[in-house]
Amino acid sequence: MAEQPYRTVIGLEVHVQLLTKTKLFCGCSTRFGLPPNSATCPVCIGLPGVLPVMNRRAFDLALRAALALNCQIASFTKWDRKNYYYPDLPKNYQISQYDLPFSHDGWLEIDTPAGSKRIGIIRAHLEEDAGKMLHDEKGTGKDSLVDLNRAGTPLLEIVSKPELSSPEEAKAYLEEIRLLLRETGVSDCEMQEGSLRCDANVNVHLPQADGTVAATPIVEVKNLNSFRAVERAMRYEAQRQFEQFQKDGLRLGQTPKATAGWDEDRGVTRVQRRKEEASDYRYFPEPDLVPIVVDAAWLERVRSEMGELPSVARARMQAEYGLTPYDARVLTGQGRAVTAYFEAVAKACGDAKAASNWVTNKVLATRKDQKAEGVTFPMRPEDLAGLICQQKAIGLNKQMAEEVYARMLQDGTSAREAVDRLGIKAVGAGDLAEVVRKAIAANPKAVADFKKGKAAAAQAIKGAVMRETKGTAPPDLVQQLLMEELQKA
Ligand SMILES: [Zn+2]
Repeated sequence: MAEQPYRTVIGLEVHVQLLTKTKLFCGCSTRFGLPPNSATCPVCIGLPGVLPVMNRRAFDLALRAALALNCQIASFTKWDRKNYYYPDLPKNYQISQYDLPFSHDGWLEIDTPAGSKRIGIIRAHLEEDAGKMLHDEKGTGKDSLVDLNRAGTPLLEIVSKPELSSPEEAKAYLEEIRLLLRETGVSDCEMQEGSLRCDANVNVHLPQADGTVAATPIVEVKNLNSFRAVERAMRYEAQRQFEQFQKDGLRLGQTPKATAGWDEDRGVTRVQRRKEEASDYRYFPEPDLVPIVVDAAWLERVRSEMGELPSVARARMQAEYGLTPYDARVLTGQGRAVTAYFEAVAKACGDAKAASNWVTNKVLATRKDQKAEGVTFPMRPEDLAGLICQQKAIGLNKQMAEEVYARMLQDGTSAREAVDRLGIKAVGAGDLAEVVRKAIAANPKAVADFKKGKAAAAQAIKGAVMRETKGTAPPDLVQQLLMEELQKA
């Protein structure tokens, strides 16, 4: 790809719905897909005289996420009212956190083509979600409707520093956040259900002839609800700003920060309005809720419930099983159940590399074909380990081993049984030497060429051996025996 004449600068604000059974300040259910307005009560529809009560589980999950994101946890935090009017916000304010968020100054490591990169996190705070507007987009003359089931659902907002330098990095950051929050049980991060949503602040930096760097005004692209949308929107918006700059030059510098929407169908961003400033919201401390003091014991309990983080699991897979960084990433990227399955196979067969290859290449693909949900695997780890052992014991090549695997799935049998049913006979080293000697006798020309120094001629004889053994002979052993016999020939 050609060098771009500008540098893209992206900061992400990720909103994640926490996996609680009930809302942040009342006992209404947070279940997705309930009939409109059925999961509501006087608290979350904002009737006068009611009082919110904090859901402690939500705060626990938020702490867990912040710890996983390497954030500093504030020992004292409070709630604030963010005032604005919108039909999906019945109280006319949202309970959020303004100047004293419960966590700040963290980081998350992502994988880039140039190696791993640490992305700073400015803050993570907790707030309640708004309801959902159902607009009549077909223009049939019906009214817009509001569903307040989502109003009051706990949301964690994670604000990154503007340290993502490409649409690909933005996507990698989101993927890592999703993996981390799923693995720690903080959120299901289902983007189609709106459990993970994202706003992106983007501008471009252009090096100037005089050595300074010109920056275009930041545009906040709202409500990106798929990883693909984030990547496409960032690419489009950066190029749009660059072209605008080519036309308008530094006059752009006077333009205030704006917000934009992303039109998925047309693949374009649409700048909508001037961005609100914090002062537009008239924040003030929420008088109906007490501040929260987080002590060491509380933090310790949350930490102990967190389980192994993906980055820790990746490091452990490399140290304990000798996997490459790539293999470790592929394996742990599938979640804890897959990592545990791999560990069981590796321990049972004693060959971690083979176990990792089988799990990432075959087992995951089978699971996908079977559309298996959750933690179901196509076969027990001990059966897969049995296959790996058989593969080595009788020297199955890749293709034969895959046939055995398919037969095991089809018949639900052990590897040994499947090998018998397929009529595969093991070739012992003694038998193999005999096959090699016969192949040498049958290929005098290749032998003569080899003796003249054409090392490649040995391949023809090796091919004859593999054909004779129907691919069941271990190639390394064939090579070794062949070299020995050729010395004698
Ligand atoms: Zn409620």
